[in-house]
Amino acid sequence: MCGVVGVVLPNRGHEAAGVAATALFALQHRGQESAGVGVSDGQHLMIYKDLGMVGQVLDERRIPSLAGDLAVAHCRYSTTGSTIWENAQPTLRLGPRRALAIGHNGNLVNTRELLDQLEGGRGRLPASTDTELLTALLADEPAADTVDALVRVLPRVRGAFSLVILDVERVIGVRDPHGFRPLVLGRLPVAPAADGSAGLWDDETGGWILASETAALDIVGAEYVRDVEPGEIVVLQAGREPVSVRYAAATPALCVFELIYFARPDSYMEGRNLYEARRQMGMQLAHEHPVEADLVMPVPDTGAPAAAGFAEASGIPYREGLVRNRYSGRTFIQPSQAMRQRGVNVKLSPLREVIRGKRLIVVDDSIVRGNTTAQIVGLLRRAGATEVHVRISAPPIYHPCFYGIDTAIETELIAATHTVEEIREFIGADSLGYLSVKGVLAGLDLPYDRFCFACFDGNYPEPVPYDVSSRKFVLEEPVVSGSR
Ligand code: SF4
Repeated sequence: MCGVVGVVLPNRGHEAAGVAATALFALQHRGQESAGVGVSDGQHLMIYKDLGMVGQVLDERRIPSLAGDLAVAHCRYSTTGSTIWENAQPTLRLGPRRALAIGHNGNLVNTRELLDQLEGGRGRLPASTDTELLTALLADEPAADTVDALVRVLPRVRGAFSLVILDVERVIGVRDPHGFRPLVLGRLPVAPAADGSAGLWDDETGGWILASETAALDIVGAEYVRDVEPGEIVVLQAGREPVSVRYAAATPALCVFELIYFARPDSYMEGRNLYEARRQMGMQLAHEHPVEADLVMPVPDTGAPAAAGFAEASGIPYREGLVRNRYSGRTFIQPSQAMRQRGVNVKLSPLREVIRGKRLIVVDDSIVRGNTTAQIVGLLRRAGATEVHVRISAPPIYHPCFYGIDTAIETELIAATHTVEEIREFIGADSLGYLSVKGVLAGLDLPYDRFCFACFDGNYPEPVPYDVSSRKFVLEEPVVSGSR
């Protein structure tokens, strides 16, 4: 996944890095492995990045030393390249033609082909991410202007990429032609708010912000302007209106998982508030898989809106029976299975008074490998539940994602190798029901052709050209040189 932010904030104490870091806090759920910020003072680019959470890396001591009116920021969840300092973003490349810092949300699917196009090959890359490779290709491109370089390079790039790019004078937002990952444009306030209070950064020109989700605009008081369109480049410069350049025709396929699970419930996508969309999906789930029970219970936090919808549609009372440790990360995006397995008990504790002697409907948003759900069912049974009925507000995940979610390879996906009945048995539930693709669309009230549903139905909008098993470490394989 990853969260990205870009900020243009003229005439106001060179605070762009601070605003970008603040906005990035709202995107912490999108990546917890590393964080970083790139800043330009109009003459020089610099970056600061490290492994860790946003608050640990971009703390109050760090930000004042990053003065400038232009900034990009990034928090990482790895899909290409290991979790090492070198792979943290933004990338930075100071070349003879241009200086660039880039934050990338998504995952490229033709990394090997692009590597063949890089003069000097992999030895030139200081890190093993697809973003580093893309940064090098853009820095090498002979076109004098960064936007011209983008227009030449991007048509060769396949896969998912929502980018924030910093050169010395501009912040540039880019979305791939499918728009797999979201990217929104907002305006930082220029005038006092309606209630008479001052805007946070009210000056004569105001500023611009790009972010993965609208929740990041809210946290800095910015106003949503529009989505960056699939296939569009948006150029932001101090004191000017955004300039739009189209480099490819749009063939929209926004990741539907963003709406089901990944993005924050207070964010908006495709004109839908995601809490409300998930509540509607929960109502659909209740219609598709009704069952008699005493309580509807969410797996916190992400299962809560769908559980509320399920309770409303079924008329069964809603109760919270699992307490989440607020300071632990999300199970799904921790990078190793061992970490995921350790994670559950650290994260969830049962409320025995609520659970004991009850027939429960437990609502969650996905089952990937099945281990986490099995542990939750076990936790509830040990706490005294008499029945546990699991309801999932998404279809079964049959296929891997190549576009920026490290769901697992096909053989690790429990639905790819087991029937629903076998999964029920594995997780130890009394019954199991998944929402259908039709039910997701009914909940969203939007058509199928706006979205990518590939992990549910195998219909990949962008062909995936190489062996999946090595995709995450494609730039870490041994270099083969010469002949034997
Ligand atoms: S394959 Fe699944 S997770 Fe990946 S972009 Fe498509 S819908 Fe989203």
